[in-house]
Formats: sequence, C-alpha cells, structure tokens
Amino acid sequence: MKRIVLAAGLVILVFGLAILAQTQTESVEQKLIKLENERAEAVVKRDAAVVMGRGTLEADRVYVNGTIYTVDKAFSKASAMAVKDGRFIFVGDEAGAKAYMGPLTLVFDLKGHTVIPGLHDAHVHIQYGETTLHPRTPDIRANLGEWASVKRMQEVIKRCLATGEGMRPGPEPRWLVLSGWMSDVWDPPAFRKELIDAVAPDNPVHILRSSHGSGANSKALELAGITRDTPDPPGGHILKDKNGEPTGEFVEHPPAQLTRLIPPLPPMTDFEISRNLVEGTQLAVASGLTTIHGASMTDYEEVQRRIKLYEVGLLRIRINEMVSKDAAKKLGKPLNFNNKYFVRSVKAFADGALGSRGALLLKEYSDLPGYFGEATQSEDALARSATELLKIGFNMRTHCIGDAANRVAINAYERALKATGTDGKKARFALEHCQVLSPEDIPRLAKLGIVASMQPQHATEDMHFAESRLGPERIKYAYIWRTLLDLGVVIATGTDYPSPTPYNPFYTLHAAVTRRDRDNNPPGGWFPKQAMTREEALRAATMGGAYVMFAEDILGSIEVGKLADFVVIPVDYMTIPAEDIWKIEPEMTVIGGEIVYTRRTS
Ligand SMILES: [Zn+2]
Repeated sequence: MKRIVLAAGLVILVFGLAILAQTQTESVEQKLIKLENERAEAVVKRDAAVVMGRGTLEADRVYVNGTIYTVDKAFSKASAMAVKDGRFIFVGDEAGAKAYMGPLTLVFDLKGHTVIPGLHDAHVHIQYGETTLHPRTPDIRANLGEWASVKRMQEVIKRCLATGEGMRPGPEPRWLVLSGWMSDVWDPPAFRKELIDAVAPDNPVHILRSSHGSGANSKALELAGITRDTPDPPGGHILKDKNGEPTGEFVEHPPAQLTRLIPPLPPMTDFEISRNLVEGTQLAVASGLTTIHGASMTDYEEVQRRIKLYEVGLLRIRINEMVSKDAAKKLGKPLNFNNKYFVRSVKAFADGALGSRGALLLKEYSDLPGYFGEATQSEDALARSATELLKIGFNMRTHCIGDAANRVAINAYERALKATGTDGKKARFALEHCQVLSPEDIPRLAKLGIVASMQPQHATEDMHFAESRLGPERIKYAYIWRTLLDLGVVIATGTDYPSPTPYNPFYTLHAAVTRRDRDNNPPGGWFPKQAMTREEALRAATMGGAYVMFAEDILGSIEVGKLADFVVIPVDYMTIPAEDIWKIEPEMTVIGGEIVYTRRTS
C-alpha cells in the first residue's frame, strides 16, 4: 500500500513538474501565437457583430480622464471621447465611453490633461515660411519673432560680407540681399542708408521688410542712379529726408532701376520646394496646428504638387489654400482632396502694410503728411473678381490693412453679393488682417456676413508704431476684436507667418486674451477693452478657421461626427494665469484620429 501511495505521489509530482516546466518554458514565439489567436478571435467576433448590426460603435481609441473643451455651441466640457475611423463617435464621460470599448479598442488615459480642438492658423505663407528652415536669403533677425536692432543688422551684414553668405552671384561689387528687416522698434525708429554704409561702404546692400518695403545703402542707390530727383515708382514711394535726399528706405515697391541690377537666385528645385513644405508643416503640427490656410495666391502647378505630396502621405496637416484667381478659374470649382487638402478660397490684395506705410488710409498718415498709402487694386477690379469667383464657388479673401482698403473690399463684396443675389453668410468673403476700419464701415461686416481674418499678434507687434501712423482718433478703430465680436462678426485668427511671427497658435491665443506681447507688456494690455475672452479666442482659433473654409460641419470642434482633430496640452488653458498662455506646448497632436505628433513619454 505504501509503495502504491508513494508511486502515485511520484507520478503526480512528475506530472506537476512537467506542467510547471511547460509553462515556464513557453517561448516568446508561443506567446505571440497565443496573442495572435486571441486577436483573430476578437476580430471574428467583432466582424460578426458588425454583420449582425451590433458592435459597429466599437471605437479605435477611447480617451478617458481628460479635461476636454469641446468648443461646441455651448462651450461644454467633457472627460472622455471615442474615435473611430478618424471621427469622433462619442464625447461625454467615462461611464458613457465604456459602451464604445471593445476588445480592440485602445484606451488612452489622459491623466487629467487638457484637450482642445485642433487649432487653425487662418493666414500663413507656408512656402516663404519654410524657407526659413533652409534660408537662401539670410534673415537679419536673431530668431523668428525677435526684433532686429541696428547693431544686430550691422553684425549680420559684416558676417555676410566676410563669408559670402547671402551674396548674389555676379561681377564685383557683388550684391548682398537680406530679409526680415523691421526698423520700427529701433531707437530711433528711422532707417537711414548710413546705418548700412558704416559696415558696407563698397558693396550694394538691399534689405527686405517682411514683404512690404525695403532699404538700401548708398552704394546701391549710386549704382541704380537713385537721387533726390528720382520720381516714385508705380505702387511705391522713395522716402526722402527734410533736405530732399533719399533716406534709402522704399515703401512697398522699390524702384525698378534698383531691383533689375540684383542678380536673381537660381530657381529652387522640386526637391527643395517639397522638402521645405513637408518640414514646415510638420513643425506646424508640433505647435498644435491641424489646419493651416495658405495665404500666398498659390498657383495651379503648386496645387498639383501639393496633391501629389498628399497622395504619397508626406503631408499630414490639413490645408485650405487661398489660390490665385487664375488657379481658381483653371480648377473651375473648389477642390477637396480626402478632407485633407482644400482649395476653397482666392487671395487678393487691396493695399500694403502699416509698418511700411503701404496701408491705404482715407486720411493722410499722421506721421507722413500728404501721404495716404498704396492701393494695389481698384474697387471695380475687386468687385469683378469677387463676382466671377462667387459664381464658381470660391470666396475671396482680400488683404486689407488701412481703413480705405477695407472700405474698397467691403464695397466690392457688397457689389458681388448684389450682382449674384447671394446671402453674405453663404459667400463668406473675408478681410485678411482687417486692421483699421472706418466707424461707418464696422456694422457693414455683420450685415454682409464678412469674416474678419485677424492676427492678434499684429496688434502686440504694431503697438510700437501704430498710433504714430494713425493718430489718437483712428487708433480707436484699429485691431477691434471686441467690437466685431459684439456685432456677431466671425473672427478667424492666424499669424501671417513668417511676417514677422512664428506660427505658434498659443502665442496667438495669448495675444488675443491679454493684448500683451510675450514679455507681457504693456502690463494692462494695449487697448485692453478690445481683448477677447479665452472662450472667444479659442473659438476664433478653431471654429473661426473652419467657418471661413466652409468646413464647420467637419472641423473646428470636438463633436460627434466631426473629424477627430485635437491637441492634448499639459495645463488647463481656461484656468492658467493669462500671462502664461503663450508658454503652452502641445503633448500630442491628432489629425483625423491619427497621432501626428507626440511629446508624451508616459
Ligand atoms: Zn499675409
């Protein structure tokens, strides 16, 4: 008996050990096979459920434990959301989200962090902007967004003359061309050719303002034969000192006798253009942008190039393009490539910029008597284009800075609406910048359904010189976000990158809410009554952009049915101190449910 018990005990022991050994030695491969089988079973179950009409709401991803600002009509908050096939299928709380969790759902713990809808930049110059990544014309700003000083400019010029950087090809003396010049915050703010002469007496030098004006040294003026007697070029103005001598500064277009002497850069290669676009938009995504509106009158060929980049998956951000009128006519109707690439708008210009005094004013400049700025298109021409484009489904978006330019565009839009019998809300014409309005024109925006596409940082950059250009009365009607919002005008916000601002949407939100620069000056804000609330600023940076591109049904907020574009940020935008809003850095950017940028390590 004892032997039998012992034998049985031994058998059990051996058997047990064998089982133990087997589980211990299960290989990684076996484990993977097991997981694969489980997964396959789950897929079969899910598909069966789908076939039977159940389980169609199983999410790809469910996000829980977040502070989600949906930016829906009521500006409601949520703590969980579910995404399937690139769209939101649920927005609410954890209990509700459970219903969307299936075996294949990836549940993502937001750990209390904040989620806002994907941000729009409603006005960027992408193809110029990206060239700052691989500059061919050196920039005289130390960094994007930092102002140049005379000293800084002189240092860069000295360096370029020594190294050959920025020197154009051609016979001696070779031309040096630089970009990014802004003299408005210099002390004193005036440009004079002698400031360049001091470091470049022998080479001609031409420095470009963002896009609206330039400056040259004495050598450049001498070679071009520009003297006190040279008349203004068409669409430009040669600034002269009180003795009638040219100062070296040109408003808007410089004289052709100067520009034709400058050897052009060789054209960029296809590779360079595509690389700049892809890299630049990836940086935009990392700053929390999910849609950008290109404001550079993109031509037909460039539209085709961009479609190809989308086709091969190299472009991930959404773009709404403001193309040239010719491109729109060649396309014949608006374009939508996979809800990623939209060509819905046409860019036009009514004037120049305020800093360079190119903005068109109804009354003379307060700091340049007898001068009114530059008109770049007549009201008749704008009205004709707006009408023509409206008929084929494009909305015109016109660059307007001065009160006279804004009036010209508003009149033109009004005529186009009348001529076609269109409701303004359907046409959605836009004023790009919309900086200075005449009091009589302000209510017309609301009446005609015109969108104000504005750049909050323009106010906090222009505050150094705007009042001297406009005087104490007109300044009250400049950068008037509050007034426009109170009238029910839709504002879409952006940066006008790269002139002169980086396309960081949190800089935009900060300026919109505080009316202060990133040093938080002036302490009380510049004309603080015109500030937006945080809710309004976020709405303008999301729904505002979606609206002006006719995409408010699919973009701009976190609502069921919309494309899943959102940004996760580590702090609560609605409650952190206002002065810190510009410091917010996204942890994750998601476009159409796809994570396109992440900084999260946990
Ligand atoms: Zn612009």
